[in-house]
Amino acid sequence: MPYTLVSFHAHPDDEALLTAGTLARAAAEGHRVVLVVATAGGSGLASAAMLAGCDLTERRWAELLRSAAVLGCARVECLGYDDSGMTEAPSGAERAFARQDVDEAAARLADILREERADVLTIYDPVGGYGHPDHVQVHHVGMRAATMAGTAVVLEATVDRSRLQRALRIIHYLPGIPADFAPARLAGAYTAPDALTHRVDVRRYVRQKRAAMAAHVSQTSADSGLRTLTVLLRIPRPVFRWVLGREWYVEYGRTPTEPLLDNIFASLADTPDHTIIDMTNNYAHQSEDAVGT
Ligand SMILES: [Zn+2]
Repeated sequence: MPYTLVSFHAHPDDEALLTAGTLARAAAEGHRVVLVVATAGGSGLASAAMLAGCDLTERRWAELLRSAAVLGCARVECLGYDDSGMTEAPSGAERAFARQDVDEAAARLADILREERADVLTIYDPVGGYGHPDHVQVHHVGMRAATMAGTAVVLEATVDRSRLQRALRIIHYLPGIPADFAPARLAGAYTAPDALTHRVDVRRYVRQKRAAMAAHVSQTSADSGLRTLTVLLRIPRPVFRWVLGREWYVEYGRTPTEPLLDNIFASLADTPDHTIIDMTNNYAHQSEDAVGT
């Protein structure tokens, strides 16, 4: 049975890094895939050369559309907020996503979820993986929107922390990888393996994933240091398949089981008419708790 998956992200390029394989696989398996970004990336990092004489928002939107097309997304929407920057270097933008009222932003996402009759929504974990304020806000806004729209399944897109550490130890020794790309930098980031509910096999879709990442050309440049995307695109193809051939999720309200689930629609298949049950209350409580702290 075809389902509708809405994947909510902070910035253009996040969809390629965290969920590209899952989106490509869902689309290839006949499901409707909708991509929503909170910001157009107009005030994100880029080199001065990249910024000269070009509208970065337009450019990043075009890149996002190219990435979405490669992945088979049926629709792409932007909520139109600005990049907030990292905590230590805030962008100062007036419409910085992290500073927006959660209910107001969630209502806009909920409109899309209702319109699409979304079955599954992907967001991020409560700490946004590695702490970017816009990624934390994706969690809060996404949880609230799922409550508003009664979306049945909410998945937090993340990375298996121990696998990430192993991957970084390998990547670290490859030619052309900067010395500061060390495992210790992300030691506490993302999710411990025992908290994961899904490990999605996307090895058949790494070609699309790499193409989606490569579509974000403007994200591969910045004046200070190499961006994650650049580093990942330097990985030789066989290693790339090993490093990026799986994607991980924590399904809200689901207890982790062994083996981890490979199918993001598993909960819908388990209980065909589990529609909203009392998950709605769970979302509301968690969301309020999370926002209040
Ligand atoms: Zn991001």
